[in-house]
Amino acid sequence: MSEAKTTLGELSCADDYDPNSMPVDQARSVIRRFLAPIRGTERCAIRTALGRVLAEDVISPVDVPAHDNSAMDGYALRHADLGSAQTDLRIAGTVFAGRPYEGELRAGECVRIMTGGVVPANFDTVVMQEHVCAADGRITIGAGLRRGQHVRRAGEDLRRGSVALAKGHLAMPADIGLLASLGIGEVGVYRKLRVAFFSTGDELVPIGQPLAPGQIYDSNRYTIHGMLSRLGADSIDMGVVRDDPDLLERALRDASSVADVVITSGGVSVGEADFVKALLNRLGEVVFWKIAMKPGRPLAYGRVGAAHFFGLPGNPVSVMATFYQFVRDALFVLMGRDPMPAIPVLKAHCTSTLKKAPGRTEFQRGVVYRDDDGQWRVRVTGEQGSGILSSMSGANCFIILAADQGNVPAGTMVDVQLMEGIV
Ligand code: AMP
Ligand code: MG
Repeated sequence: MSEAKTTLGELSCADDYDPNSMPVDQARSVIRRFLAPIRGTERCAIRTALGRVLAEDVISPVDVPAHDNSAMDGYALRHADLGSAQTDLRIAGTVFAGRPYEGELRAGECVRIMTGGVVPANFDTVVMQEHVCAADGRITIGAGLRRGQHVRRAGEDLRRGSVALAKGHLAMPADIGLLASLGIGEVGVYRKLRVAFFSTGDELVPIGQPLAPGQIYDSNRYTIHGMLSRLGADSIDMGVVRDDPDLLERALRDASSVADVVITSGGVSVGEADFVKALLNRLGEVVFWKIAMKPGRPLAYGRVGAAHFFGLPGNPVSVMATFYQFVRDALFVLMGRDPMPAIPVLKAHCTSTLKKAPGRTEFQRGVVYRDDDGQWRVRVTGEQGSGILSSMSGANCFIILAADQGNVPAGTMVDVQLMEGIV
């Protein structure tokens, strides 16, 4: 389990702490104060380290590249052999990648060299084969060659003894390759974060059963499972819990005993909130918020037993918006990720007219696209109700509208947060 850095008592003393209307950025930074990485670590093969957070600095055991080598197919030579006009050099042999030249080399000699071939000792420059005249075992080179050109220096990628990858780094495909290039086959990572979740609501029915009037299928457990899987957390699906205080208490206790983080959906809107708040106060601690955001105004954050607790709203779009805007970063911090990069926010011309009342930060769902004229534009994905999951499904970005912003006329530049990265 991780250790909270801040206690609720300390927080409540802060002047601008208002648990009932917290601006989005402030809510993020308050949550952040309670988070510290989990302690457990394990070693794993580099392939399985993909998507895991490194639990230790990886120190390079070697120089990469290990030797000066050629960046081009051409001829390796000593720059000092070159005259101020044309120079004529004898080709003493050929260097292939993986097969260094072993003979002695004298002044006035060069070697033919292939890309990746080791540049012979005391040679310092490579000339591209297209830039010489070769005939009868000799080359002629014009003046003006820069010393060191087309030579990749030993250690220019990584120096032996330097930090190749830092603790807290999230391992991406390039990192797996980099570890391989160092000859490292195993690496220390934080153990997977365990996240238990359940849905609350008497109206929820599992897939496979017919719907009676007023009932709906539970979709939140599926989106939450999907989002957790993409983050590389171990997800523990605890099903649907009826709106019954005893059942809810038992589910919270069970979840907190097996997980680092407990996520629920539903039951935090007006009417149900007071009861959940009382329950959480008994089982742990609650930093209970109405966040000044849309969708997703009700969002509970706190602790159940030793586990962090996120009580997400019930509406399917609110679940996803609050997860992406708060839970995602929090989980990464708990997973040990450090520094935690901000998701880039870009500007795009908005082609839709957006309805927006001042007071809350809005996360409308949009499609960002490149128009025929090469400009990036964004349009809204139709109806924006917090129950309309197709508005998320059809979106590739959030359009972020600042709290104080009013209606947005078409043609305005707006902030856009992409939902998908390159990998
Ligand atoms: P609540 O926050 O419990 O009042 O729920 C708000 C709205 O979200 C209601 O219309 C619920 O029916 C709906 N809802 C709650 N949980 C789920 C769920 N797991 N899947 C789909 N819709 C839900
Ligand atoms: Mg409910």
